[in-house]
Amino acid sequence: MTDVNGTSQHTFDTVAQPTWCPGCGNFGIHTAIKNAFTQLGLVRNEIAVVTGIGCSGNTAQWYNTNVFHSLHGRTLPVATGIKLANHELTVLAEGGDGDGLGIGVGHLVHSIRRNLDITYIIHDNRVYGLTTGQTSPTSVKGFVTKSTPTGVIEIPVNPIALAISSGATYVARGYSGDIEHLTKLIADGIKHNGFALIDATQVCVSFNHANTYSWWAERIYRLEDDETYDSRDKMMAFERSQEWGERIPTGLFYREERATYEDELPQIADRPLVGQSMDVDITELMGEHV
Ligand code: SF4
Repeated sequence: MTDVNGTSQHTFDTVAQPTWCPGCGNFGIHTAIKNAFTQLGLVRNEIAVVTGIGCSGNTAQWYNTNVFHSLHGRTLPVATGIKLANHELTVLAEGGDGDGLGIGVGHLVHSIRRNLDITYIIHDNRVYGLTTGQTSPTSVKGFVTKSTPTGVIEIPVNPIALAISSGATYVARGYSGDIEHLTKLIADGIKHNGFALIDATQVCVSFNHANTYSWWAERIYRLEDDETYDSRDKMMAFERSQEWGERIPTGLFYREERATYEDELPQIADRPLVGQSMDVDITELMGEHV
């Protein structure tokens, strides 16, 4: 794939190759993100990618853009800081289901309600892969892992319902095995002026033997193929977010236009923080702390 400027998805490659297990769904998500950058004609130094900790977090090593490999569950605070320092950057954050819906879930809810212009992608494989197979916040009840040998007792977090009820302005679900569709959802999320959450369901071939490629292929369908579905209707979106089992919807669940946090911040109304003068005398302030 090449854009009019001659940029291809390989523009965003580093010399190193991903080290994920062969067949891992992270490959599809990583490819879709680079495809989206290419389709949108983005320039490498105008993108900042922030990742968490986990198999997906290692993706920071394989983007030839500005990257920040952050702490576990702290992807969104770092992305927020970058966006507020230079809101002209395209900021994309990504991390696993454990990262974003476990330790980082508080940050997720508050990032959503702020509506910063950040695209957040959850690599949702329903298991902790990097630590070799423990239950995660999206593991279904009864799922047997090393940490739950008799099956998970809790019900899973529903990222779509959580995002809608927290006030998200763009909520979608994609699938790592459908790269073309996932690319469109990510590109539309980047273009959306506000916080875009994309739950990228993926296969973990090594530690999740329940949600396999064939399991997904038998269940997923695209919301776009349902002519009765209206992604502007929040109640309809919430209702559809509950669908899980024999049929699993992918696509755009919900979208609305609302002013972003940056739009309403007077300190950066004229120019980004990084473009403002540092010519201030802080002697008096420093004197208070000696
Ligand atoms: Fe992918 Fe699972 Fe391997 Fe991690 S452990 S790289 S998620 S297949």
